[in-house]
Amino acid sequence: MATRPVLLWPDPRLSTRCDAIAAIDDDLRRLTADMFDTMYDAPGRGLAAPQVGALVRLFVMDGGWKEGTPSPRVMINPEIIAASEERIEMVEGCLSIPGIETPITRPATVEMRWMDLEGEIHEAKLIGVEARIAQHELDHLDGMVSFDRLPTKTRAQYEKDYAG
Ligand code: ZN
Repeated sequence: MATRPVLLWPDPRLSTRCDAIAAIDDDLRRLTADMFDTMYDAPGRGLAAPQVGALVRLFVMDGGWKEGTPSPRVMINPEIIAASEERIEMVEGCLSIPGIETPITRPATVEMRWMDLEGEIHEAKLIGVEARIAQHELDHLDGMVSFDRLPTKTRAQYEKDYAG
């Protein structure tokens, strides 16, 4: 098991748009394995590559492992191809903003397209907690954290709480 240090907001690498992945090689496979180790160790349900300082479009997630129903996913170059009109508020935590949970409104379900570590393309509709995690992690690949989804006034209060 190899965990990597998780960057804490406001590290500038967390505000950087990440590059698409052109090739799947041993470095990428090692990064992915380390990201799973880091996520489960934290413990968390999702982790994006920039959170461990790798500015590439990759995240790992597992929406059910804490409830004993693991469903690990690796998403390379993920994109949202459709989102539900129904939007719901859910509380989100982030391993890069420890101790802070923010209520964020997002589409309830999303259709995603991504590549796996074998280079295969997948398309699937994600619902529930998986839809939420995928949208949160995809934001990281675009240089956004949960604070960036909050109204200005609310954000100021959460940032103050975070700064302690
Ligand atoms: Zn996060």
